Amino acid sequence: MTCSELVELVTAYLDGALDERSETLLVIHLDGCPSCRTLLEQHQQLIQLLGPAALPAPRPTALPPARRTILLAAFRGSSR
Ligand SMILES: [Zn+2]
Repeated sequence: MTCSELVELVTAYLDGALDERSETLLVIHLDGCPSCRTLLEQHQQLIQLLGPAALPAPRPTALPPARRTILLAAFRGSSR
């Protein structure tokens, strides 16, 4: 694995989204490459600073506003 390949995979690695083979290659590269270890630490610090909300994660609990209005109307209608 080269340094530029590692840069492309570092986000997936921190998300735990890498397959086993890529993760092994990445860890082996990190072991012998101090500049990539620094890069990984910077990514980890960034994630800690920004929090999980900064990650593009799906939010299944968030309803689109229009749908929510319909649901609220239906709820009010049935409670009377
Ligand atoms: Zn490297």
